Amino acid sequence: MKKLTIAIDGYSSSGKSTMARRLAAAAGYRYIDSGAMYRAVTLYALDNGLTDADGNIDSDALAAALANIHIDFSPAGADGRQHTLLNGHDVEAEIRSLRVSEHVSPVAAIPQVRHALTEMQRALGCEGGIVMDGRDIGTTVFPDAELKIFVNAPARTRAERRYAELKASGADVDFDDVLANVEQRDHIDETRAESPLRRAHDAIDLDNSHMTIAEQDAWLSERFREASRRYGQD
Ligand code: C5P
Repeated sequence: MKKLTIAIDGYSSSGKSTMARRLAAAAGYRYIDSGAMYRAVTLYALDNGLTDADGNIDSDALAAALANIHIDFSPAGADGRQHTLLNGHDVEAEIRSLRVSEHVSPVAAIPQVRHALTEMQRALGCEGGIVMDGRDIGTTVFPDAELKIFVNAPARTRAERRYAELKASGADVDFDDVLANVEQRDHIDETRAESPLRRAHDAIDLDNSHMTIAEQDAWLSERFREASRRYGQD
């Protein structure tokens, strides 16, 4: 049976990664978190002093350094998650910090960064059998994906989820900072010139505000079954 390409896009902290990872595990597909790749590039810039006097990322310096940045994913660890590797080092915990979250959207607006990561994402998905989540997967990375989902929920609901995750990981964070970060990232992602966050015209919408993880899984499995019936015999 043909293996499909599945694009799951949406706003920050909308639960895309959780649903994408769980669908990939159930279907025996590969899961790729494209946001982790933007986060790893951001961490590289911060850790290598590619910032200006105000502490903002220097886009020219980062564009020039892209050839030195290698991103991979480890096989799923004991926690069931693949870890993001930046130049061979496991940076999974660091890329989720508020420090990285505060700089990632300006980095993701740099055209050279987007071109480099889009190329890597296409190479990872060239054989199908992949679930990738992000902001532009259904519009730019895989415009021919057989199944596209666009996830949304109100900003406050998404910030509450993100805050709970950060707290659970032991981070000392303030809810208002998390909410401000979610809103700011949404704004930058929607208004950038290059591949802005957009719903693909052929995406299926999901507002998961009032759904449990199990309900979300069941909904997505049904969409996957429909797409498999439609395209799987090609
Ligand atoms: O998905 P996550 O919130 O971890 O992504 C971090 C950031 O990376 C987003 O806020 C967005 O700025 C950027 N991103 C993007 N395109 C993608 C995935 C993520 O611009 N495909």
